Amino acid sequence: MVTEFSREGLKADILRHLTYTLGKDPEHASRYDWRVALSYAIRDRIVEPWFASTRRTWAEGRKRVYYLSMEFLIGRLLEDATVNLGLREAAVEVMAGFGQDFRTIVEDEPDAALGNGGLGRLAACFMESMATVGCPAYGYGIRYEHGLFRQRFEGGRQVETPEDWLRQTHPWEFARPESAYTIGFKGHVETQGGREVWVPGETVRASAHDTPVVGWKGRWANTLRLWAAEPTTLFDLERFNRGDYAAAAEPEALARTLSRVLYPDDTTYQGKELRLKQEFFLTSAALQDILRRFKAAGHALTDLPRHVAIQMNDTHPALAGPELVRILVDDEGMMFDTALDVARACLGYTNHTLLPEALERWATFTFGNVLPRHMQIVERIDSWHRRIYGPPHYVGIVKHHEVRMGELAFVMAHKVNGVSALHSDLVKRNLFPELNALHPGRIINQTNGVTPRRWLKMCNPALSGLIGQTIGEGWEDDLDRLRGLEAHVDDAGFRAAFGAAKRANKAALSDWIGRNEGVAVDPDAMFDVQVKRIHEYKRQLLNILECIAHWQAIRANPNGNWVPRVRIFGGKAAPGYAVAKEIIRLINDVSVVVNSDPEVRGLLKIVYPPNYNVSMAERLIPAADLSEQISTAGKEASGTGNMKFMMNGAPTIGTLDGANVEILEQVGAENFFLFGLTAEEVMKRRENPDHARDAILACQPLQDVLQMIAEGRFSPDEPDRYHGLVHRVWHHDYFLVASDFAAYHAAQGQAAAAYADRDRWLRMAAMNTARSGFFSSDRTIRGYMADIWSVDPAL
Ligand SMILES: *Cc1c(COP(=O)(O)O)cnc(C)c1O
Repeated sequence: MVTEFSREGLKADILRHLTYTLGKDPEHASRYDWRVALSYAIRDRIVEPWFASTRRTWAEGRKRVYYLSMEFLIGRLLEDATVNLGLREAAVEVMAGFGQDFRTIVEDEPDAALGNGGLGRLAACFMESMATVGCPAYGYGIRYEHGLFRQRFEGGRQVETPEDWLRQTHPWEFARPESAYTIGFKGHVETQGGREVWVPGETVRASAHDTPVVGWKGRWANTLRLWAAEPTTLFDLERFNRGDYAAAAEPEALARTLSRVLYPDDTTYQGKELRLKQEFFLTSAALQDILRRFKAAGHALTDLPRHVAIQMNDTHPALAGPELVRILVDDEGMMFDTALDVARACLGYTNHTLLPEALERWATFTFGNVLPRHMQIVERIDSWHRRIYGPPHYVGIVKHHEVRMGELAFVMAHKVNGVSALHSDLVKRNLFPELNALHPGRIINQTNGVTPRRWLKMCNPALSGLIGQTIGEGWEDDLDRLRGLEAHVDDAGFRAAFGAAKRANKAALSDWIGRNEGVAVDPDAMFDVQVKRIHEYKRQLLNILECIAHWQAIRANPNGNWVPRVRIFGGKAAPGYAVAKEIIRLINDVSVVVNSDPEVRGLLKIVYPPNYNVSMAERLIPAADLSEQISTAGKEASGTGNMKFMMNGAPTIGTLDGANVEILEQVGAENFFLFGLTAEEVMKRRENPDHARDAILACQPLQDVLQMIAEGRFSPDEPDRYHGLVHRVWHHDYFLVASDFAAYHAAQGQAAAAYADRDRWLRMAAMNTARSGFFSSDRTIRGYMADIWSVDPAL
């Protein structure tokens, strides 16, 4: 329950923190000081619900959920917490009283980018939803010193620089130096008294840092516990005294390396030993912490599944299976078969990808070297599974000198889930067909969602205000109520107000683009947005090729009735992903030519602000008219960006992929611009070795576009810059850019026609918001609680 917070109380607390926590005289306080003081004052107000939630969980003997994830893309926390506590208005006023602008203060906070993209953002949305529905939970992750790199463009090329979110005080966390565990690596296995014992050759300490995560209205709060790596041995004083300073600090540097950086690649797997160590570091620290808490309650270990649910977010924490078995068997003396049953009853595994190059596989040499005892246990799990289930064609966990983490996670989990209906179906049919046949019913679906508090209430005050005026309060944690807006869509006054809210967001974005990118964009133009990681399967290339075709069409018919457009891109490429970086450069090269073409007269602008992150998403999505979700069908597991756009009233132009399928189902075909091959047609199409050539020859605009790029129209200083790219489209077009181009081009024409009819467009946009209730992550979390975790909500 939230108690009444008076403005005066908030004001006094801010001043108290400024004075006594930060040691600053208000007269000399900087923006940073005010922000940190406000953050502490807000954090204070989370502490009571946080304690109350923990006490209730203990007192009522509730089962806890442990969400293990290598990534939590949480973004900024101040405004989110303020909104959830119902204190935004108070905070705005109180800060104004101090002569401080709340918006400016909020934007001073670094964006915590402890994740790459969708997978990490899902984990962050889940934490907020678990707190909102009252699911007792801990999130476990790594406290990376440097999150995802910062992106800049130099001559159109992506340049990466380190990210530094911890340089300033991070006011949200509580360091828990007393909650630390020793994590082992390497070494050997000894037999002692008939038992196998692992004697690690290296150790580090995992030290906990807790961030409370408060749900809507402050009714419940959970903990995000991030582990920082520290040396177990202090530095070598003897060497230091001899003047060998670098060598003296070596153990410390080595240990800290473990939590130094987030791996910046989310779609291919690298096989680096440090990554395996990071994965074990997280998993082992989490399991030690879980078992300590469990034992403190005095239960028998065989009762673990009644009190503990552990969710593995992708295979990254899949070592949880063998590590839990190791602890139960080697440390606790449980029988191996019993330990397997106990572990499996606790564990769930969420699959996030069908891309074969993203499925983790570790060379048995590396795995056995870093985790010798776990290697033995994995082999034993594999042979146990073969003995009980294994027909001759069974795909094993250890095969061709590799440990396959997908198979390991599958075998060790009682439920395996995909993240959209289509994806879960493909997980059954294409990814794990044999295991699915052996364990029918184990694979289930839990379609992703996003938290409407951050992705509607907080980031779009204009639209959320209108929603409140139209259907009343209470939609924030009961998003299906948005359906109530449908009744108002025929009301011209409502449509005008909906349009005005969007227009205000677009005007604010235009200002921002003007200030930051130096490009003037017309807020009445259609804002067509594709923001997400840059990847071939997401097909930013298809988008930029269509931009060029559109540009050519305007030039060919300057007096045509064109709908002015702003095509906005955003997203980072993995530093080692050369093709993705080439696409970034092409987008930037094309934007230079198009934006400076006088013949276009502002009918088309292309902008690509660098460093897409959660904060930029919060700025762009409320201002979007059209949501680009154009992946090759069968490749995007779910997408969550698509859901954020829908909530904020942007119809989708997209393929039948991931959760687009369910968005289309909810919103209706008349409110969605569908195009392109289906997942099945994609597979068929690839059987024709000339698919790209045939498609290009059948589509003159595409042929012209490719010709212009090949001739160096966008790279006059280096005409053959994109020869390789154009050649790939003609000859190795695995993601079927050419085959879907004509349909995409036509769908873009339909979108323009719909936009030109203002009433029709506003109806479509409002219908998207009205029918987005299904995509609240509260619905997703309730699904996990019922179908995987067997946990009842405390609220
Ligand atoms: C939501 C989100 C994503 C995921 O976007 P998709 O379009 O689903 O790939 C990635 N990055 C950020 C910053 C996000 O907010």
